[in-house]
Amino acid sequence: MTAQIIDGKAFAETVREKVAAHVARLKEVHNITPGLAVVLVGEDPASQVYVRNKGKQTVECGMNSYEHKLSADTSEADLLALIEQLNADPAVHGILVQLPLPDHLDSDLVINSIDPAKDVDGFHISNVGLLGTGQKSMVPCTPLGCLMMLRDQLGSLSGLNAVVVGRSNIVGKPMAQLLLRDSCTVTIAHSRTKDIEEVCRRADILVAAVGRPEMIKGSWVKPGATVIDVGINRVEAPEKGLREDGTVKTKLVGDVEFDSAAAVAGAITPVPGGVGPMTIACLLANTVTAACRAHDLPEPD
Ligand code: NDP
Repeated sequence: MTAQIIDGKAFAETVREKVAAHVARLKEVHNITPGLAVVLVGEDPASQVYVRNKGKQTVECGMNSYEHKLSADTSEADLLALIEQLNADPAVHGILVQLPLPDHLDSDLVINSIDPAKDVDGFHISNVGLLGTGQKSMVPCTPLGCLMMLRDQLGSLSGLNAVVVGRSNIVGKPMAQLLLRDSCTVTIAHSRTKDIEEVCRRADILVAAVGRPEMIKGSWVKPGATVIDVGINRVEAPEKGLREDGTVKTKLVGDVEFDSAAAVAGAITPVPGGVGPMTIACLLANTVTAACRAHDLPEPD
């Protein structure tokens, strides 16, 4: 069997089109332009790329993008003051602080200083609690994108066995909450899980969010399962040759060994081109949702 490839890039395109259409209506009918503020502290190269992409796609959807780039030695007081200013700014509907933050900054404190209504990443403790208790909240973008792909692929998820490998606050735990909300039987596996291969083999839905290149092999996958690979790992790719400076070229791989898993699974997301593009699309969708809620207008579906 060869798995169907779930095209996250194409799906993200359709999500962005819907976002752009909603933004156009908000502007035309209500004179509201949703705005997203992204705060980047320091010069982490991967974070810089993410922030650039987020800003570009925000503008392409017709929204306002406000980028705040702060030096790596920014004090906590200065960062909190900026967030306070953004919280109070009616033109800003969504605020995202790019993680990870430099070590001297307390991420929990910073995230919890964002107005929960503008917390488009869904990491504020209020949003975490609302999601966990089944109330209306801001839902973290990466798990939301995964859920959308799963629903699109499988229709109802009710009664399916879902295994989430990874228990981080930004991916694993909210993913498990969303799957539970859709009536899956959910198992969260992590670094201390016994017989993890066997646990994974029970999964109708297997979500990998580990951060370990190609850890999950095809032999861990139940035949016909739907596999969502959240991992983004940069590894050396000697087959691509050397760069001009003599170092080995690199490539991105997921947490799942794609070829062996695709030979067994029913459907699988590729890396790149799977979960990644959906994450940014969901960020844009969350910003429109936040703008609608701020003005008591109906939210997008
Ligand atoms: P974290 O490092 O915060 O969490 C990793 C989780 O994996 C932990 O819960 C850890 O367990 C578990 N784990 C580590 N090693 C093993 C192992 N050998 N067996 C089983 N479980 C293990 O990572 P994130 O959740 O932030 O990210 C996970 C991956 O997803 C990364 O590759 C990241 O780059 C990617 N990512 C992709 C996004 C996208 O848009 N596509 C967005 C966010 C992340 P324990 O808790 O026991 O230590």
